[in-house]
Amino acid sequence: METSLENISAAVKKVLMELVEERTSQGSGPSGIFETIDEAVENAVVAQKRLKQLPLELRKEIIAAIRKAALDGNERLSALAVQETGLGRYEDKVRENILCASKSTGPEDIEPRAYSGDHGLTLVEYAPRGVIGSLTPITNPTGTVIHNAICMISGGNAVVFNCHPSARETSVQTIKVIHRAIVEAGGPPGLIGAVAKPTLDTARELMEHPKVNMLVATGGKPVVNAVLRSGKKAIGAGAGNPPVVVDETANIRRAAACIINGASINNNIFCTSEKEVIVVDAVADALIKFMQETGKAYLLTPEEAGQITEVVVTPEGKINTRFIGKNVQVILKEIGLSIAEEYRIAILEAPKTHPLVWLEQMMPVLPIVRVENVSEAIRLGVEVEQGNRHTAVMHSNHIDHMTTFAREVETTIFVKNGPSYAGIGLGGEGHTAFTIAGPTGEGLTSARTFTRVRRCTLVDAFRII
Ligand code: NAD
Repeated sequence: METSLENISAAVKKVLMELVEERTSQGSGPSGIFETIDEAVENAVVAQKRLKQLPLELRKEIIAAIRKAALDGNERLSALAVQETGLGRYEDKVRENILCASKSTGPEDIEPRAYSGDHGLTLVEYAPRGVIGSLTPITNPTGTVIHNAICMISGGNAVVFNCHPSARETSVQTIKVIHRAIVEAGGPPGLIGAVAKPTLDTARELMEHPKVNMLVATGGKPVVNAVLRSGKKAIGAGAGNPPVVVDETANIRRAAACIINGASINNNIFCTSEKEVIVVDAVADALIKFMQETGKAYLLTPEEAGQITEVVVTPEGKINTRFIGKNVQVILKEIGLSIAEEYRIAILEAPKTHPLVWLEQMMPVLPIVRVENVSEAIRLGVEVEQGNRHTAVMHSNHIDHMTTFAREVETTIFVKNGPSYAGIGLGGEGHTAFTIAGPTGEGLTSARTFTRVRRCTLVDAFRII
């Protein structure tokens, strides 16, 4: 995704660039930031070997230190992410980082398992992969790094990041915060690393490096396909287009509030956020009315909806990347509309063929499609998800309806009667992940995802009962 830095004042940009240059010129490495991929990987190899020799108790302390450092640096890193990328909302970045720092899984996720029986004892342990190469998206430059670092290091690995070039300052700063926390907690330097200036060439070098044992891509289809073609063990966390279906049995007021909150968080750049609403006609008017009553949703007239569509969708039928992650006020200004600061999202009624129903817009403009009945809603929900197997949401009080949609859409995350973000642990049970591996099937990644499963069998002994 192309992103401009147009929203950043020249002065802020200059200071940020100087910060990075200063750190880079201090010499390659001491902060986890290296000049070349090869240096980062070689240091990671050494660091990972040392981590393996350290007590597990120390690994737990390192993870606790990473969590704390990410929380301590949260406000600065969140502000930097919004300034540098021009995407999302500061307060939502703060929530994202709290979620990643506190609910990404730690070493508890790699507790060994044992089988005991007549033939003795078999032990199953989760062993490190080694050095992991991780490619991260512009949409979550802090959250993905924090989540990946916690899970990958908990699994006993080192990680080298190739971050999105348009989020490099934020990524560098996040990695430095984590690197410092690791070293201060007694961990080896270089356990987390990156190059100061990531590019597509450094991404290729990382993917091809013989000492990188595993690759993880969090982003769109091209990068997921690139790691899958690498010949290495690869985890792909790709794009989605999450539908939300509302049937006539739902609590409509609650559904309206959940959808507006889920679709507007971080200006819709979460890959899990509701991207189109499909509602049964009998309750559509009520849903739209309750959405407006939240005070956060601006209903576009049919004429305004047409004009906005021309602004955010290019003549070639693609999303206009200029508006990704922008506040709704910025987007509506393009057609001369000025709306109050309280608004978080624009909603519009749309036919099922409308481009925003099929494209991953990643901006706070949400199409609503009316259908005759729940069967049609579920059918359309499955179609617009387009086999991404990412996320889907349903509001209903009918068990069969929810079961049918969940079975047919086959998404990694299925949320019932809540905002989409409940599915990543924000106001919902379970751990969080900002690398949601739908294409390769690992689901919400955890420490165990980044391990090899090893078994040791002791024959006819060691059973104590
Ligand atoms: P992107 O695919 O443009 O970039 C992701 C990363 O891959 C970046 O570091 C980029 O430099 C790199 N990259 C891109 N193409 C590459 C190629 N051909 N070879 C090597 N590296 C390449 O994605 P983005 O715009 O940064 O992020 C938004 C996308 O990511 C959305 O589609 C969103 O749904 C998805 N996403 C998915 C998840 C998930 O967990 N499934 C999480 C966050 C974002």
